[in-house]
Amino acid sequence: MKTVKELSLGLLSELAILPSVPFYESLIQAKICKILNQYSISYFFDSFGNIIAEIGEESDHLDPIAFVAHMDHPGFEIERNLDGKLIAFPKGGIPQFSLNHETKMFSFNELGERIRCTISPNSENPKTVIVNSEDLIEIGSPLTFDLIDFQIKGDKISMRSADDFAGCAAILTNLIENLGKVERKIFGVFTRAEEVGLIGARLIARDEIIPKNSIVVSVETSSVIPVIKQGDGPVIRTGDATYTFNSFAENLLRVAANQLKDRDESFMFQRSLMSAGTCEASAFAANGYLTTGIAFPLGHWHNAKTSIPDINGGIDAENISLNDFLNGVLLMIECSKLSICQSKDPIAQKLKHVPEDFESRLTS
Ligand SMILES: [Zn+2]
Repeated sequence: MKTVKELSLGLLSELAILPSVPFYESLIQAKICKILNQYSISYFFDSFGNIIAEIGEESDHLDPIAFVAHMDHPGFEIERNLDGKLIAFPKGGIPQFSLNHETKMFSFNELGERIRCTISPNSENPKTVIVNSEDLIEIGSPLTFDLIDFQIKGDKISMRSADDFAGCAAILTNLIENLGKVERKIFGVFTRAEEVGLIGARLIARDEIIPKNSIVVSVETSSVIPVIKQGDGPVIRTGDATYTFNSFAENLLRVAANQLKDRDESFMFQRSLMSAGTCEASAFAANGYLTTGIAFPLGHWHNAKTSIPDINGGIDAENISLNDFLNGVLLMIECSKLSICQSKDPIAQKLKHVPEDFESRLTS
């Protein structure tokens, strides 16, 4: 049997080779379904193409936990032909470098075939680019950055799309590892078109495609911020650029993290408000769900070598820490096994109980 490390890295490397751009997620959708089928994990597609997988049974006292990750990554879409030139529009927060410098890209189709090309600045509309290729590329094709698919060196995992294939692989590992071992319903939710405004997640939340009492855990990469260090463990996310998350939901992760730490000193985690971007938990929070998040601190966010707004920064593969990824997977596995309901939240109970000796000093 595979270890959690072997399983999760195997899944991550399988996903990593698949290009994906908002609205063009078919390759990773098919791969996720193949993996779920292989392990006999039940799932369904909603009418928007989001995938909802589930393990465990409904419990009358334990609310479901829904781990959510997105299947797309920022890129471009060829939208029109102008005077014989193909014009592509950004889909998601692409590095500004790519609008201002010739950049290596490839287009891909539903079979996974790649056509290499470059993009160059379009002086007539600086928010778009001109696509240059010797081969025929059609209008309506997606473009992604021509970067390495997957590489592990030391503690660093480099990928074109760590955001958010790391989240998808972590969720798949949790479902596989916990199949038949959980006391509540656990959902694995794989969404579409996150990078253009959390679209898949907003639709799931709006239409209550997962039950309203689900505790939603966003599993995301999130750009490194000054208080966070890559390699010091996954981040229990108290909020994002838009929302503050829920304390009970967060406490489930913290109880799990403390248990893991008690068993193994080498387990690491961090806790912070990851304010660089908005994650899918916000879409669920806005619709009344209890939410929290796990973040893998991310380098080269959205393939920007320095920062997204830096027009001279360059393009590179994204990276996360191997240690952060593996500890994040362990955290999800541990959290899914907890049999704690809101009225028995141990962190809240500790604060509610006031030591009598101190109380009496205030009244004597
Ligand atoms: Zn993301």
